[in-house]
Amino acid sequence: MDLNSSIGCVVSECKFHSTDKDYCTLSKIQVVKHEQSADTVECTDCGSFERK
Ligand code: SF4
Repeated sequence: MDLNSSIGCVVSECKFHSTDKDYCTLSKIQVVKHEQSADTVECTDCGSFERK
């Protein structure tokens, strides 16, 4: 699978992760927040994640 050099990612558990390098293979991801107001990096996540 081709990797997207604009989306770095270390979540190797995701089925869209490029296994040999720390990048995503999707052309676009959705970044989401799980608090009403995002104050720290921990409040944000990749909404496109799917388990392998
Ligand atoms: S979909 Fe999100 S979590 Fe999965 S590899 Fe791409 S950036 Fe990482």
